[in-house]
Amino acid sequence: MQYQCNKCKTIYNISPLRYQCDCGSPLTLQKNTAFSYEWDPSIASLWRYRQALPIPSGTDIVTLGEGVTPLVPLDSTDNPNHLVKLDYLCPTGSYKDRGASVLLTHLKASGVDSVVEDSSGNAGAAIAAFSARAGIHCTIYCPESTSQAKLRQISAYGAELKLVPGNRTATTEAVQHAAENTCYASHNWHPFFLEGIKTLAFEITDQLHGDVPDHIICPVGFGSIYLGLYLGFSELIDAGTIDRVPRLLGVQPAACCPIYNAFRDGRPSITRMLQTSQTLAEGITAELPIRAEMIMEAIQFSNGAFATVADDDIISGMRTLAAQGIYVEPTSAVVISGYEQFRDQGIIQEDDVAVSILTGSGLKSGG
Ligand SMILES: [Zn+2]
Repeated sequence: MQYQCNKCKTIYNISPLRYQCDCGSPLTLQKNTAFSYEWDPSIASLWRYRQALPIPSGTDIVTLGEGVTPLVPLDSTDNPNHLVKLDYLCPTGSYKDRGASVLLTHLKASGVDSVVEDSSGNAGAAIAAFSARAGIHCTIYCPESTSQAKLRQISAYGAELKLVPGNRTATTEAVQHAAENTCYASHNWHPFFLEGIKTLAFEITDQLHGDVPDHIICPVGFGSIYLGLYLGFSELIDAGTIDRVPRLLGVQPAACCPIYNAFRDGRPSITRMLQTSQTLAEGITAELPIRAEMIMEAIQFSNGAFATVADDDIISGMRTLAAQGIYVEPTSAVVISGYEQFRDQGIIQEDDVAVSILTGSGLKSGG
């Protein structure tokens, strides 16, 4: 296995300090072993798909039983064709545990004893928890303005917090400086993180007894779910396991929607959009996604579409979900308005089966 630059195609050996190309672009994993979709139903975690993961056999895995989350109708009486994937039921309360489990397994096997990361949200908690599990020292960089509530879970796992004065950019610069000498376990940059997220595609296919839904709806900021689904379904298509792919439907907050803008205008590339205001969907405010080109590929691959939501739509989505016994954080609730818009636009039709991914627990968003 090697890394390849998405842009200039330079090849690199896999090493703990390498997280981007020298040209500044993101890397993807080039695998030399054939994909195998043989899975072991006796394993109650995403590691049932171990043969499809880039982890050599015999490696000690770092796991908390992440994945294998329920797929249920949102409202079986009203609309049995709209299913929700309760991925907020992963061990730290978000789907990011899928990426963290595979990434920390890889890093531990590579002899890494210390990592840095820069997220005060779900990714920071997931990297901190799986680092603790792996016995790896973890330092999380956050803006000084981050609320105590968000930092509490991360510090509970024993991660060291570095609070950086100034805005988000100052934090990014600080972590990139640290990453010159310490492994950067970045949920946005590190190719092994996406490898864990792709298991969502396998699970959904299995839960639908080998079929795929017509659509999958997910919140999109930097796009890790969107890209994980793209990767997973691409591998299933290449292996001949499935013969069609779901349309990947992304939802962004209106206050920060660079991907939606490119999609709406039919532009081939994504340009930076400065966030225009605060939004409840704080987990998905990426002004320029790092893997922008791959997101455009994924839209094309799946005949995808994008929509935007306002805060009112998010609150209404949270109410709709809670009325069905589902308590998620605001960022997750964007999928409800997204579903309605795609249906109104005729993208989702009457008998189509759609799966919405619910990403983070509501218990995390309290003050
Ligand atoms: Zn490059």
